[in-house]
Amino acid sequence: MTRQQDIIDQTDRCSARNYTPLPLVLEKGEGIWVWDTDGRKYLDCLSAYSAVNQGHCHPKIVDALITQARKITLTSRAFHNDQMGIFLEKLCQMAEMDKALPMNTGAEAVETALKAVRKWGYEVKGVEDNKAEIIVVRDNFHGRTIAAVSMSSEEDYRKNFGPLTPGFKLIDYNDLAALEQAITPNTVALIMEPIQGEAGIIIPDEGFLTNARKICKHHNVLFVLDEIQTGLGRTGKLFCYQHEEDAKPDILIVGKALSGGVYPVSAILASHEIMDVFTPGIHGSTFGGNPLGAAVGLAALKVIEDENLAERSQVMGAAHMGKLQTIQTNKIVEIRGRGLFIGIELDKSLGGARSYCEALMEKGILCKETHDHVIRLAPPLIIESEHIDWIADQIAAVLVNNKS
Ligand SMILES: *Cc1c(COP(=O)(O)O)cnc(C)c1O
Repeated sequence: MTRQQDIIDQTDRCSARNYTPLPLVLEKGEGIWVWDTDGRKYLDCLSAYSAVNQGHCHPKIVDALITQARKITLTSRAFHNDQMGIFLEKLCQMAEMDKALPMNTGAEAVETALKAVRKWGYEVKGVEDNKAEIIVVRDNFHGRTIAAVSMSSEEDYRKNFGPLTPGFKLIDYNDLAALEQAITPNTVALIMEPIQGEAGIIIPDEGFLTNARKICKHHNVLFVLDEIQTGLGRTGKLFCYQHEEDAKPDILIVGKALSGGVYPVSAILASHEIMDVFTPGIHGSTFGGNPLGAAVGLAALKVIEDENLAERSQVMGAAHMGKLQTIQTNKIVEIRGRGLFIGIELDKSLGGARSYCEALMEKGILCKETHDHVIRLAPPLIIESEHIDWIADQIAAVLVNNKS
């Protein structure tokens, strides 16, 4: 038995079975590359669901982690620390927002946004007690907490986790008429992803975000974007909403690449007016805003800026898309994406993308199927042209030359 198989068996024996990972064990990462315990090298095309946009173990982010870890890691918010302020100032400046509230995981930031919009609804908009409604979009993904799965339309995510959180109304993606219809005097917010990542890289129709925002504004409803996966350069802009005119949200939710994958750091951003619904003692997190996470977050943001990662994503993404479009096979239904956030949708008759992801693994490329039939390609944004061409060649080899 190989060492990898031993580790997989051990893991299977003692861990909950809430994932079905590809059968390999990683022990090292650097830039776009990761290595398994047998020393085989792979190009990472998942980037930990876009948390590793800056590349694995970016030296500047790791340095920030080590330097800060030697000084102080956790103070709790009972005291100030000397890192949170500069981190949030940088984040607010880059996102062009007044204020930020730091959390740890994406789902926690989503929960924070839910609390913000409800509280805003009661205290600013004047919605009657316990009547607040939030509009969400079919096939969304906002995390795995009870409230996040209550927002979901995915039966698997919800089943047997009830009673679920009430107060969510589902509309279809791209359906502006449904949005208009769903709004009542009790509606406090529309919460959505500007591209649906987990749903299979679903890109909205041109103008959908702008018009959704306009409708929200007209009805005094907050427009909230979950950019946990699409944000921080992934789609070729710093934030995905910037692909449209006037689509800036009232609340922006970020996570994942906010720490370059080095440490869990998330946040919501908003105006003074909205953020000021949070008063002392009504929301918090022991680790949220801790100096270690803040130092890592600041370094991760600087890397995105200094290395022009949003622009790189745009340029490399266009090149990648061009190259992928040349693959001649009827196995592909559609290739879609923005920047280095690309989905290859396979014909349903092929029985899912999983076996192709396994075949790509054999060729040295790691990616993961999303919603069964889509291969998601989201390599670290530091990737170079030669590697993009190589990825496309391997995909062509897997889809055209062999495999049934
Ligand atoms: C990953 C993700 C989340 C959840 O983030 P976690 O850190 O896994 O809790 C929420 N929303 C979107 C759009 C995501 O991609």
